[in-house]
Amino acid sequence: MSFSIQEQLHHLDHIAEFQWKKMTEAEEHSTKPARQANGDVVAETSAVEDIFDDTYKEKEGPKPPIKIVWKNVILMSGLHIGALYGLLIIPSASILTLMWSVFCFLVSALGVTAGAHRLWSHRSYKASLPLRIFLAIANSMAFQNDIFEWARDHRVHHKYSETDADPHNAVRGFFFSHIGWLLVRKHPDVIEKGRKLELTDLKADKVVMFQRRYYKPSVLLMCFFIPMWVPWYFWGESLWVGYFIPGLLRYTLVLNATWLVNSAAHMWGNRPYDQNINPRENKFVTFSAIGEGFHNYHHTFPYDYATSEFGWKLNLTTCFIDFMCFLGLAKDCKRVSRELVLARVQRTGDGSHRTG
Ligand SMILES: [Zn+2]
Ligand SMILES: [Zn+2]
Repeated sequence: MSFSIQEQLHHLDHIAEFQWKKMTEAEEHSTKPARQANGDVVAETSAVEDIFDDTYKEKEGPKPPIKIVWKNVILMSGLHIGALYGLLIIPSASILTLMWSVFCFLVSALGVTAGAHRLWSHRSYKASLPLRIFLAIANSMAFQNDIFEWARDHRVHHKYSETDADPHNAVRGFFFSHIGWLLVRKHPDVIEKGRKLELTDLKADKVVMFQRRYYKPSVLLMCFFIPMWVPWYFWGESLWVGYFIPGLLRYTLVLNATWLVNSAAHMWGNRPYDQNINPRENKFVTFSAIGEGFHNYHHTFPYDYATSEFGWKLNLTTCFIDFMCFLGLAKDCKRVSRELVLARVQRTGDGSHRTG
């Protein structure tokens, strides 16, 4: 009896997926996260919480009414007006201040991509205590809700992607999935499904819980005060420029870069790995969100630490994690094998797959 290459790949794909499921289920059912001798949690995974659940069905009948949260509308409008003003006064900033703004952009973006996303939401690698402390500080600089809340919402996003239970359901359009979801009350199913996640790994991570407890002061310090104070203290920039450029403008740019992953990368681009889901490969988003725009790949293989099969290409976050591994501060990066990727491409891709 002989099998075609396609059948063999298909078979391989199923075996690999099955083994992965078994692995994650075993991890899920180990009740206590592993601890090191010093009592520090070695972040074990709750990976099943971020795997798509096709058993969920949206409730029938009319959707609940949309309730606008006016406080958030006013804050977000004010922030964007402040950022626009920051853009206008760029010519009056010194070159050092502009370089500092780029630095703050990268640090805060890493706090989201390498931290809240790839480490804490997906457990795609393990990070030592010093690295987790750095990522938590960087995450406060990004001010996108604390790590615990961000990772919970993000697991719900993967598990119930493109349904009422998805916090930024892209089926509701670009505006809703980009920023609108933060301006209205959550759909009841988002709250219900979020509550059902156990999140034991996050609760057991002292760094995550510490950042949650001191979130407000840490944001005031890292997102607003430090970006403004450093240029004033070290090279005599005005506090005004420091507040509006490395402060508000940089903050707003990181926010929008992150939101583009939820909006643009769920709407525009190819689907080489799975054409049955909405997330897409979007180069512009990949560039602005330092590696997070390979979104069809990411939703297909959420446990891959690189969120792409192309390594460092347009993927500063993967470079950063690899560098941390080189320094001995990170380890156990999960990766999808080439065979599994190709098998999946054959089985569910849209035919646009290219190597490299
Ligand atoms: Zn997504
Ligand atoms: Zn994700």
